[in-house]
Amino acid sequence: MNKNNKIVVCGAGGFIGGHLVSDLRRQGFTNIRAVDKKPLTRWYQKFDDVENLVLDLQYVDRCIDALQGADTCYNLAADMGGMGFIELNKALCMLSVLINTHLLVASRELGVSRFFFASSACVYAGYKQKRPDIPGLKEEDAYPADPEDGYGWEKLFSERMCRHFREDFGIETRVARYHNVYGPHGTYDGGREKAPAAVCRKVIAAKLSGNHEIEIWGDGEQTRSFMYIDDCLKGTQDILASDILEPINLGSDEMVTINQLVDIVEEIAGIKLTRKYNLDAPKGVRGRSSDNTMIKERLGWAPSIPLREGMRKTYEWIYQEMTSRSSKDSVVNRF
Ligand code: NAD
Repeated sequence: MNKNNKIVVCGAGGFIGGHLVSDLRRQGFTNIRAVDKKPLTRWYQKFDDVENLVLDLQYVDRCIDALQGADTCYNLAADMGGMGFIELNKALCMLSVLINTHLLVASRELGVSRFFFASSACVYAGYKQKRPDIPGLKEEDAYPADPEDGYGWEKLFSERMCRHFREDFGIETRVARYHNVYGPHGTYDGGREKAPAAVCRKVIAAKLSGNHEIEIWGDGEQTRSFMYIDDCLKGTQDILASDILEPINLGSDEMVTINQLVDIVEEIAGIKLTRKYNLDAPKGVRGRSSDNTMIKERLGWAPSIPLREGMRKTYEWIYQEMTSRSSKDSVVNRF
């Protein structure tokens, strides 16, 4: 891709979008526009040498402002969070359909040539994820459809919208199904955080407060796989540049239970905690991991960063964040 092409990153104030802008800068792209609805002071990463715009992309006229002159659009903007958020905010999650739809409409009007949509493993059928030891989910396991209510239905619908804009209007849409992405510079408290960041926060809070207990949602035997942000960035850009027209998995196939994830973080922190299991908390599906056969065959992509190594980097960043807060906002008071 020409390094002077205008690339628009939507959701750039968020976790993955912020890292993507950083990575594109590092590679020498000179014409980047970063867009998010959050005020600039709340962006996880903000760079003064790119064009930063605060726009609510649920509205089509804002999408047209966002994509003026654009060659490429990465749509990473969505109202989302971990299981606690998506189980309790289904309408908000569904409203993200306006963002993707209006970005596609604006792309058509303005002649944007390449469009990336961040879909999710939450599109996969619930009936395929009832046991902790299930095999990795293959792309075809999204149908017959039974996605996560709310968030997953929006992603599945938007995947199809991308397909039809490609088939009918010629926009080169590409879709990745992300499986749990984690790393520094993301949400770790407030209710939208996902398991890796939440576990780091809870372990750090226990260590700092001296209250050596941890609450785990469910019985901790539910399984997941987690992809470090650097692997996600490489895969995302490879998928956008590829000729892969159908949605494709982008995730790790290193499956762990939540209890094993806690073991890893305890080891990093050098602490052992008493585990309290909250069986009434949102738990999501019983088992989920990514089958990477297709992405290995088509792109030669495989995750390169082991969970333990990625979790160490994530832990260190969250620790730094939590301990650098002012005493008024101290960890002991907050957690
Ligand atoms: P994030 O919440 O950190 O970032 C999303 C950003 O979108 C936020 O900064 C938010 O302010 C912005 N946004 C929301 N509504 C907007 C609107 N109307 N207009 C403009 N901006 C808006 O999430 P993330 O982890 O960076 O996820 C990025 C994308 O990847 C999302 O589409 C998400 O659904 C998808 N995804 C992420 C994961 C993961 O594990 N992080 C897994 C599967 C899919």
